[in-house]
Amino acid sequence: PQFLGIRSCWLSMSPEPSTHQTKPPKVQNLIGGSFVDSQASSYLDVINPATQEVVSQVPLTTNEEFKAAVSAAKQAYPSWRNTPITTRQRVMLKFQELIRKNMDKLAMNITTEQGKTLKDAHGDIFRGLEVVEHACGMATLQMGEYVPNVSNGVDTYSLREPLGVCAGICPFNFPAMIPLWMFPVAVTCGNTFVLKPSEKDPGASVILAELAMEAGLPDGVLNIVHGTNDTVNAICDDDDIRAVSFVGSNTAGMHIYARAAAKGKRIQSNMGAKNHGVVLPDANVDATLNALLAAGFGAAGQRCMALSTVVFVGNSKSWEDKLIERAKALKVTCGTEQDADLGPVISKEAKERICRLIQSGVDDGAKLLLDGRNIVVPGYEKGNFIGPTILSGVTPDMECYKEEIFGPVLVCMEANSFDEAIDIINRNKYGNGAAIFTTSGAAARKFQMEIEAGQIGINVPIPVPLPFFSFTGNKASFAGDLNFYGKAGVDFFTQIKTVTQQWKDIPTSVSLAMPTSQ
Ligand code: NAD
Repeated sequence: PQFLGIRSCWLSMSPEPSTHQTKPPKVQNLIGGSFVDSQASSYLDVINPATQEVVSQVPLTTNEEFKAAVSAAKQAYPSWRNTPITTRQRVMLKFQELIRKNMDKLAMNITTEQGKTLKDAHGDIFRGLEVVEHACGMATLQMGEYVPNVSNGVDTYSLREPLGVCAGICPFNFPAMIPLWMFPVAVTCGNTFVLKPSEKDPGASVILAELAMEAGLPDGVLNIVHGTNDTVNAICDDDDIRAVSFVGSNTAGMHIYARAAAKGKRIQSNMGAKNHGVVLPDANVDATLNALLAAGFGAAGQRCMALSTVVFVGNSKSWEDKLIERAKALKVTCGTEQDADLGPVISKEAKERICRLIQSGVDDGAKLLLDGRNIVVPGYEKGNFIGPTILSGVTPDMECYKEEIFGPVLVCMEANSFDEAIDIINRNKYGNGAAIFTTSGAAARKFQMEIEAGQIGINVPIPVPLPFFSFTGNKASFAGDLNFYGKAGVDFFTQIKTVTQQWKDIPTSVSLAMPTSQ
């Protein structure tokens, strides 16, 4: 009942922009259990990338409002950490049910603000939902250890305790999944949380927060502040925030890693990628080409685990023609259209950047086998669309190879041998993921053993692990040492306390020597 009073306008609002609406709605912050309008002097437009319509406006939260959010989280912490773990789990149990019930609403919001197809938006939500389901078993995940009788009458045990106020900073490309990687794990461990969604698509975070509160999350346990660099810097600098979870680009990630660490915080920072798919000539042709298309062009290439680089080994290069044919058949249009395969990229600036990187490939001598830059999508002429693009004959020194493109662009390279392909991948600075397509078990095993990337796919194009494992990017794709979700995620949001107890008659003699096992 209390929830109904504080409900923000998002769940009841039609996700389709109304023609009668003169002013787009302002996205609210969530502070201490209430959705509140910001007193910010500046707002940014949240733009539908398929139409350029302004969906809403997001505030650059004031410092006072930010402080109020942290203070609400700090105040909520003592009673939330003392709430039985079973009660905290039950909130997640209800939360996952509410997410399922609101899937369509969430997906429509994601497609409207982010551009990905509705089907892909469902996948975005579902992969986050799985983390919520996993958090329902937190009592087991958070269990401590016990060794009886470490000395006569003395036992030692360890407890995993929450940290206090934690914060999360999100990217634009998975508006539901990434917030759900963060706060469900943090709060079920007993922490309270301040979330900073991406300023480009904040709507899904707001809807999820409404649902979490409806599920029974007490006031102040989850707070949302919108904004950009200043809000992020305030999070890094705040003395009451104990841990920061970040996902996004390397520029922001390394800045946050350094700035928050200078304040003694723990940080997990998932960053950029350049994921390679190695194709051996013995691979199944159809399955491999379909996997390359799905992982290269799905979500218009805006996935950190997109397979953006193909390394054809030996004569598998001859499959390029078929790849082009199939890529041409993909339907590029607004994500709400039934038959859409890929939607627009997030912004005009992103489109310009991607087009510039494609051109740099051409200028550096790569062959543009398929050019999606000048695509016009009927009915959505203003959208930031780029059609599937394929660059061939790319070499490691080219800018289009060195930079993360983050668009629907497949960069194709050639290797004369399998060893050469492995060498190309290992020399790349990123280490998020790599996949191999082969029918040879020996080759697959060699790949698994020798590749320096955190997530390996063997005939699997986007090997993002489910939440009983962790998301394990490495090299320049990750900074920190405790990964997102899975066991490492629980470790990240908890600290260990070790208790040594003695229950026996107190010895009568005094010894000042270091205690040893007796
Ligand atoms: P981004 O770094 O531009 O933004 C991410 C967040 O950081 C946003 O909330 C933004 O407001 C903030 N931010 C941006 N620049 C900042 C700065 N200079 N100082 C302080 N804060 C700043 O990233 P994006 O464009 O939203 O997302 C795309 C990137 O995220 C890609 O590089 C992609 O590979 C990466 N990503 C990685 C993973 C992973 O798990 N490794 C997952 C998804 C996305």
